[in-house]
Amino acid sequence: MKTIVVKFGGSSLASAGQFQKVADIIRAETARRYVVASAPGKRDSADTKVTDLLYRCYDLASAKQDFAPVLAQIESRFADIAEGLGLSFDVSGEIAVIRKHLEQNPQRDYMASRGEYLNSKLLAAFLGYDFLDPAQAVRFFPDGAFDSETTNETLAAALSNSERCVVAGFYGAFADGTIHTFSRGGSDVTGAIVARAVKADLYENWTDVSGMLSADPRIVENPRTIAQITYKELRELSYMGASVLHEDAVFPVQKANIPINIRNTNRPADPGTMIMPALPGKRATRKVTGVAGHTGFSSILIDKAMMNGEIGFGAKLLTILARHGVSFEHCPSGIDTMSIIVSTASLAPSRDAILAEIEAELQPDHLSVEDHLALIAVVGQGMIYSKGVAASIFGAIADANINIRMIDQGSSELNIIVAVQEADYENAIRSIYHAVENRL
Ligand code: ASP
Repeated sequence: MKTIVVKFGGSSLASAGQFQKVADIIRAETARRYVVASAPGKRDSADTKVTDLLYRCYDLASAKQDFAPVLAQIESRFADIAEGLGLSFDVSGEIAVIRKHLEQNPQRDYMASRGEYLNSKLLAAFLGYDFLDPAQAVRFFPDGAFDSETTNETLAAALSNSERCVVAGFYGAFADGTIHTFSRGGSDVTGAIVARAVKADLYENWTDVSGMLSADPRIVENPRTIAQITYKELRELSYMGASVLHEDAVFPVQKANIPINIRNTNRPADPGTMIMPALPGKRATRKVTGVAGHTGFSSILIDKAMMNGEIGFGAKLLTILARHGVSFEHCPSGIDTMSIIVSTASLAPSRDAILAEIEAELQPDHLSVEDHLALIAVVGQGMIYSKGVAASIFGAIADANINIRMIDQGSSELNIIVAVQEADYENAIRSIYHAVENRL
């Protein structure tokens, strides 16, 4: 039998009305057997996520302040859902357990996890599905890192007993049973690990957008939705700030070759974005998948005559950065020059020390730092086979009268990266997008 794992985000499960949409989606396809649920999110832009209320409650309780009004708000969120769905669910009994916990020995991750715990129990009751508490199956190492292999075995065993089950997202536990959460947005990760554990044919991630956009809609008007994207392209675009999925959600499904489909709970007929190991067809006809970027970079520029003959120059330079815990993004070089692009924020704490050490250990003829740079990535697997993509990108930037500060093309030819001054950032994104639009 085909198996689909479906994960619903907080806005998809924010109210009884949204629960009804979710149930309709699940019932429309019998293969949708395993469901991962988030805590109730915002019902409108002025609303507060239940997870944020839970953190607030914890902060108050641990400061020995009155948390009752916030806990009452949380209770009413769940009571409204239960009532709206006509479920006889003991919300006040569940809240009493949480209250007791807060009074006795409040724990931050335990509190944060209660949104997913209660929402998933409610959803399981509404659907008539089993419920699995991930504290029984999702494991973390003592240092907080996710224990993927133990989890995979335990989860597979737990779910093998269940035909249809709702699993709470976002958390798991250490071996001693203490609750631990993933980082914010972590229900995406739970969905991916459930998909791997049950060897799903597909992981559907239901949210409130109809897929991933090929550019930031705050910069480009009406960018196209990406119909298909590879895991690698997704990683490149997400790294540059295009966010649709928690970044740790890709690894488990990529390992198991399971495609991810980003879908919109409020527009279930939209096909969304399919994220897969490779694009179908030998040579992708689409050249460019998306354009994304980020501001806040600095370039350390070093000139030294005969640098190319000086064995170990680059190694010494990178060792200095490593000593200060600064990772570099790009490192374009010429025969007598080298520049290192780093995030300005990561450079800040040890900027003076790094520059002093470069002066002392490498004795450059010239050393300077250029701040206020933005990086823009044009990503697309199809660029490998295509002539002229680079020409149209650089042509468009020149036509917009923007000065390019750096060009880098990863060895995979999956992306072309350019650095421009921050002041030119949005204009550059728009120019590039319009230049490659017919190749999207
Ligand atoms: N509820 C958690 C958060 O708000 C996790 C999630 O929704 O994925 O971050």
